Amino acid sequence: MKVGVLALQGAVAEHIRSIEQAGATGVIVKRVEQLEELDGLIIPGGESTTIGKLMRKYDFIDAVRQFSAQGKPIFGTCAGLIVLAERIEGQDDAHLGLMDMTVARNAFGRQRESFETDLPVKGIEEPIRAVFIRAPLITQVGPEVEVLSTFNGEIVTARQGHLLAASYHPELTDDYRLHQYFLDMIKASANVER
Ligand code: GLN
Repeated sequence: MKVGVLALQGAVAEHIRSIEQAGATGVIVKRVEQLEELDGLIIPGGESTTIGKLMRKYDFIDAVRQFSAQGKPIFGTCAGLIVLAERIEGQDDAHLGLMDMTVARNAFGRQRESFETDLPVKGIEEPIRAVFIRAPLITQVGPEVEVLSTFNGEIVTARQGHLLAASYHPELTDDYRLHQYFLDMIKASANVER
């Protein structure tokens, strides 16, 4: 199973390591042609405006939408979650606009710019270790979106069918269970060649 990490900007190497620790092959993705060989794609944390701009520049917006339309799983972490959202508070335009949710950027404010916590996630037995860095929150979700975890009552992990989004950085810890969860989503999707 091959899982790509969109490598235009952001935390790429850490995701590759987590994918490999979870038991799949990690692929650094810099060109749209590479999407063809992948079973799933991760959009990493970083800076969502920059990632969005570079995705437009290198023709990734339509290509990733097509990837999603084929039912291939996509996992967005932190800035990647913002890139997946249909609505971004205070901005007129979204990026991929694939998940029916509204997000607020940098939602924890200066006091809590970065912190770590143990976070219970639906579908994973024990809490996972989550690192939040200038993290977004999901402030509203549509009927197709399943909330997988909340932190202080706010949504921080969500899933819409083959799409998964986390406000935090699961790749910055030695806890690979959310990557494992994503690999299980890929295995369950009809597109994996057996
Ligand atoms: N604050 C960043 C943004 O709005 C996201 C931060 C992150 O990915 N760690 O794009």
